[in-house]
Amino acid sequence: MKSYVLMSIGLLLCSCQAKLPVNVPELSDGNPTTCFVGTKGVNKVIFDQQYTAPFQSYKIYSSGETPAHDPSAWTLKGSFDGKNWVVVDERKDQTFCSRYQEILCPITQPSNYKQYMLEASTAAGDTLVLGDVLFFDTNLDANWENFNYPDVDFKVLDPETKGASVYTGLVQDPDAYIRFHARKVAEILFYTDKDTMNDVQKIEYTLKDYDGVSAKGGTPPVISIVYSTQHIEKSANESLYKLDFETRGVLYHELVHAYQFEPKGIGSYSTNKTFWACIEGLADAVRAQAGYFDMSTRKPGGNWMDGYRTTGFFIQWLTTKDSDAIRKFHETVRDLDEWSFDKAMKRMFGEDASIEGLWNEYQAFLSK
Ligand SMILES: [Zn+2]
Repeated sequence: MKSYVLMSIGLLLCSCQAKLPVNVPELSDGNPTTCFVGTKGVNKVIFDQQYTAPFQSYKIYSSGETPAHDPSAWTLKGSFDGKNWVVVDERKDQTFCSRYQEILCPITQPSNYKQYMLEASTAAGDTLVLGDVLFFDTNLDANWENFNYPDVDFKVLDPETKGASVYTGLVQDPDAYIRFHARKVAEILFYTDKDTMNDVQKIEYTLKDYDGVSAKGGTPPVISIVYSTQHIEKSANESLYKLDFETRGVLYHELVHAYQFEPKGIGSYSTNKTFWACIEGLADAVRAQAGYFDMSTRKPGGNWMDGYRTTGFFIQWLTTKDSDAIRKFHETVRDLDEWSFDKAMKRMFGEDASIEGLWNEYQAFLSK
């Protein structure tokens, strides 16, 4: 009896040492709050779904843990048989600009490997924690390699506030964080980095203690965005992830204002409601498309002229008819001499389309 127990413990130890984590669900769920907690030193993780299409890019996400737990160096390997491994991509000295942040890595020599292995370690030997590792069969960097990133001038006007200190825990490199989102906004508004777009050269981004959320000022080439430390503090009450979700969402909205075209022939933001609804609706449509709204808050009712999320959710819903609907909507703003919602819908969906018709269809969808 005794020897049997010893033997099984011995076997157990043996298999533990040899076994690598395979298909860790927390790494593939697209939710960086669920994470893989590894060990100190080099960690190996296997992704084996017997893949058929070659991966052309992948993203690694930081977790909500402190940056010392982030991967700093990693090697991605591919295999056809699970025995022989080929180096697919190698990264060193990587830093994540914030918590829950992706680093996008194109794969320069894709092949239809059946499985992948990630070998990763932290910078100073701390326990490795990974938020997510996601693979894509397209190169998500394609057409955007030459995006003109703006310079960022980041200032904290009220550093003694709780909001300012919480922000530092979330965002370690504000310049990189804001530049990252500038490109993400452009990717939703335009097709490629070669499209004609506003020449946003500089973004002055300020954390300020005031009763509000966020606002954009100025016009390209220099724009300014202010973000309320009081709002940061409120948003952080639930969790750091909730704060991240809100901070990115607000940033998407304000950065749309930097890159979006303005409707022509109908007055201005402060004199014409259609102009205002178009500007604020598109900003929230991009935020929704990026995934930074709780879409369960969509409710029937209102009007396309209500602006913000009422208009924004409608414009985003149009992507169910045409995946390029947001880009095409934005093109109507650029092209129409005298912009209106109805003309935009006709330009996008044909002369038989109308704003009333599409809005009613959207309302019916919401009422289901
Ligand atoms: Zn706005």
